[in-house]
Parts: sequence; structure tokens; C-alpha cells
Amino acid sequence: MNIILFGAPGAGKGTQATRLVDQRGMVQLSTGDMLRAAVSAGTDLGVRAKAIMDRGDLVSDDIILGMIVERMDSPDCAQGVILDGFPRTVAQANGLDEMLQARNWSLDHVIEIQVDEAALFARIENRAAETGQVREDDNAETLRKRLDVYHESTAPLLPFYSDKGLLRAVDGMAGIEEVGRQIDGILG
Ligand code: AMP
Repeated sequence: MNIILFGAPGAGKGTQATRLVDQRGMVQLSTGDMLRAAVSAGTDLGVRAKAIMDRGDLVSDDIILGMIVERMDSPDCAQGVILDGFPRTVAQANGLDEMLQARNWSLDHVIEIQVDEAALFARIENRAAETGQVREDDNAETLRKRLDVYHESTAPLLPFYSDKGLLRAVDGMAGIEEVGRQIDGILG
């Protein structure tokens, strides 16, 4: 089963993906985590991506698609994956379609975690405290930019997947367990 967890920055995609990994043994592919790993490792890609991520912009579609293709062809992804933070543009969604078709794989569900944007600011500010990890893009100014980028480049994917009959929504303002239950109800 291949699914996309969709939603604005801070909606809880990573939290819910981790839950699915723990409870169902699914494999999570987070492009944000892959990029942060490249930044930590100090690779050429990491050095280039860091400045883009710090200002809340999107890394180029070519780089992202290259990373995803390489990762999806790993043996552990053969049973399906949770895509977290990808696709984020129409070009990435088209690239994903081509990639899946070429492998005869299907996309089973696109789950939108819906949130109230005002609440996201409080949540992002708490994230560092809750996880003990400090992300340089977790501040109000960068979040504003990331939300603008979300509306401009990523939200147009909602009708794209709705037209394909794949889109389902869950209430991201509910507690983590309740959101998880709603996702379980969709996945069966
Ligand atoms: P995330 O952890 O998903 O919020 O991603 C953190 C940052 O990594 C984003 O703000 C972007 O700069 C970059 N990024 C992650 N995924 C993508 C993607 N699919 N396309 C472009 N940029 C991405």
C-alpha cells in the first residue's frame, strides 16, 4: 500500500507517519528528513539545500524526484511506503505518477490532515520543546513563508488528487490518538 500524508507544515504528518511505522511496520519516506540528513552529513546537496530550507522555500523538483526514485527502489520499499512531505508541487506529483506507473505500483490513499493555521504557530513553537530537536525553520517568520509556499505550490495538489478519487481528510486539530484512529479508519 502506498499512501501520501498531506497537510500544511506542522499539521502532524511526521507524527502520524511515525505512528504508522510503529503500528503497521510501514516504511516512511520523508523528503524533509532526507534533506536534513544531507545537511548534517555536509554533502554538496546538503550545503545547497540548507539555505533554501532555512528561508522556507522549496528545494528543486529535480533534486527531490531524484532522491525519491533512488529511495523507492530500495528493497524495503517494495511493500509500499508512506510519503511524508512529498509531493509538494504539481511537477512532483506528475513525477510520482510516472514513477509509480513505470513500476506498476498504485497510489492507494492521499490523506489530508486539516489544521487551523493560527494554531500552527503555537504548535511549531512548541515542537522544539516537545521533541527536544531544534529545527532552524521552526520559527514564526519561516513558518509564514512555508505556509505561503504551501498555499501557492502545494495546495493545488488537493484538486489534483480529489479528481482521481484518492483524497480523504482527517481532523488534524483532534488529539494525536484520535487523528490516528481516523487514519486507521481510512486505511482499514
Ligand atoms: P518538512 O520537514 O517536510 O517540513 O521539510 C522541511 C523543508 O525541506 C521544506 O521547508 C523544504 O525547504 C524542504 N523540502 C522537504 N520536502 C520537500 C519537497 N517535497 N519539495 C521541495 N522541498 C522540500
